[in-house]
Amino acid sequence: MPTQKSKARFRFAPSPNGRLHLGHAYSALFTEQAARDAGGALLLRIEDIDQTRTRPEFIDGILDDIDWLGIRFGMNVRRQSDHFGDYGDALARLEQLGLLYPCPATRGEIEADIVAKSGGTVWPRDPDGAPLYPGIWRDRDAGEYEKLRNGGQPVAIRLHMTKALAELNSRNALPLSFHEAGAGPDKETGRVSLDPAIWGDVVLARKETPTSYHLSVIVDDADQGITHVTRGQDLFYATVIHRLLQVLLDLPEPAYRHHRLICADDTRKLSKSAGDSSLKSLRESGVSAAKIRRDLGFSRM
Ligand code: GLU
Repeated sequence: MPTQKSKARFRFAPSPNGRLHLGHAYSALFTEQAARDAGGALLLRIEDIDQTRTRPEFIDGILDDIDWLGIRFGMNVRRQSDHFGDYGDALARLEQLGLLYPCPATRGEIEADIVAKSGGTVWPRDPDGAPLYPGIWRDRDAGEYEKLRNGGQPVAIRLHMTKALAELNSRNALPLSFHEAGAGPDKETGRVSLDPAIWGDVVLARKETPTSYHLSVIVDDADQGITHVTRGQDLFYATVIHRLLQVLLDLPEPAYRHHRLICADDTRKLSKSAGDSSLKSLRESGVSAAKIRRDLGFSRM
């Protein structure tokens, strides 16, 4: 008999910076279906590290919308804002490995540095389309970092990608790969290898919050015992950063399944009478949860 520990665990992890829309509904229903097919547990996590954008009414709204859709989540809801200490511990371990550095640069300073360094040539961009960090504060001397840390000026904490890759290499962990049970934007599937350097020196703690999406998500997935990560294809390339952090922090590797993103046509089909595709407005205009399930391809009800 499978023990509680060996049972598959899935999670839906919305960020409460607005009302849920049809894209979220698709992701939640996709995850519900995957958990049911695997006989696994379905957990809810509220990704509220961004305290400037999070509002209590959005959290209540998420719980309401999920309830209305008829999705039942097991155990307690995890809120990221209750776990800043855990993210701090993970950051401290990476710091001990010598893989982090503080960066006080503003967006404007980074842009200006890129203009100066690129000399008119095309500057490399990450998979989300943002220009790669030009390294302004990478490899400064220890005294400068010390001053920054004690100076009270807000700093982001970045991962030194070259050092991180060297650390992975010394652990025979390159190339990094993960199991993709769905597909990436270029139909990548099965065992997928990606180079984390496509992201450059990613920010692991932001100036305004002592963590980041990447750091929190891998700590949470491990703490919640998530065995299967299901989420939108827009996060496919982020997975290699998650694998990198999991290896560095000795955390287990879940399986990944990235799903298609809901496109304008799906949205139009469902929301033409409501005027917007938030679940709240659809509900208020008389659309039923059963219709949403059906039209998104999940016809349980
Ligand atoms: N909080 C993220 C979002 O709402 C999802 C994170 C994840 O599934 O890894 O897009």
